[in-house]
Amino acid sequence: MTVCRPKLWKYLSITLSFVLAAQLLSGAFSRKFDPLAYVMSVHQRIPWKIWNESLQASSETYQMGNGAETSAQEGTQDSSLLSKEKPLCPPVPPYLAGRLTINRTAPSLEELERTHPELEPGGRYRPAECRARHRVAIVIPYRDRAQHLSVFLFHMHPVLQRQQLDYDIYIIEQAGSGKFNRAMLMNVGALESLKQYPYDCFIFHDIDLLPEDDRNLYTCPEQPRHMSIAVDTLNYKLPYENIFGGVSALTVDQFKQVNGFSNSFWGWGGEDDDMSHRVRYYGFFLSRYPAHIGRYTMLSHNKDAPNPERFDKLYNGEKRFKTDGINSIKYKVLDIQLRRLFTWVHVELYPS
Ligand code: UDP
Ligand code: MN
Repeated sequence: MTVCRPKLWKYLSITLSFVLAAQLLSGAFSRKFDPLAYVMSVHQRIPWKIWNESLQASSETYQMGNGAETSAQEGTQDSSLLSKEKPLCPPVPPYLAGRLTINRTAPSLEELERTHPELEPGGRYRPAECRARHRVAIVIPYRDRAQHLSVFLFHMHPVLQRQQLDYDIYIIEQAGSGKFNRAMLMNVGALESLKQYPYDCFIFHDIDLLPEDDRNLYTCPEQPRHMSIAVDTLNYKLPYENIFGGVSALTVDQFKQVNGFSNSFWGWGGEDDDMSHRVRYYGFFLSRYPAHIGRYTMLSHNKDAPNPERFDKLYNGEKRFKTDGINSIKYKVLDIQLRRLFTWVHVELYPS
């Protein structure tokens, strides 16, 4: 045995030298540490579409160096102040849980309020540990769905917080008992939320849809995103390709560019398809997560009577894109309250 040992060492050192030389030649040691590649290798579970988006976000930031990220507005500040600032949140939130348990019941709003001391008035949240990458207004059209409201808030606040968003939830309640106008309420939510805070992203959200997976990030990518792809009541299948209803995300700029939603759809149906047309008319396209990520549970409710005029309105919608939207909406805010879990906007809608 002792006779063999020097030989073994010799063989080992020769092999090692070959490996080292090969690595040096291939430039492996000269490559810089790539934080994104590192995060990617840690979070294998996140689907590739998210990575694509994170890639764009992160390359902007990491190029600027450690802890000294600046934006156009911050560029003039003292660099000693900047170094004390919180770091930008990572491109992929580290606390995601993946698949979620869905509760169809929830504590009362009063009880829920007690469990969310981290929220600022109006339901505002910002991550404590880092600077959020996204300023998101979640806009909910609402009337007479009190039970859904508590279930939704109970489910959503933890999800949005794990996603490290700077967000608020806006409940836009239509006054009176006239025909419901989902699209107008979303226009109101968008306009009123921007008076409160410089959001960069809108998520328009039915109150009865609960995401089943928190890898479904509530952010706005480069193209408008349809989010509620696979809904349990539709057997988790997309009913048709251009659907944009349920839950959808548009940047504030995209929303302004398409003139928001049409104000002409009173009663159930059509307004989401009209928005889908607008999006494509203005040169955008719909983006989507994979179906196993964009899964939702819908809470049960009675179905509203469909609006018989919806097909006509849709058919000639294109003529009105430029004149029927946020530039022509008529409404009166009756009340805005910064409640503990959300911002409540009570609004009267008028036909344009
Ligand atoms: N909605 C509401 N009250 C109503 C009708 C609708 O709050 O009386 C809101 C609520 O956010 C709901 C969304 O509009 O999730 C879409 O309406 P609905 O759920 O009736 O549409 P469907 O699920 O049949 O497409
Ligand atoms: Mn519904």
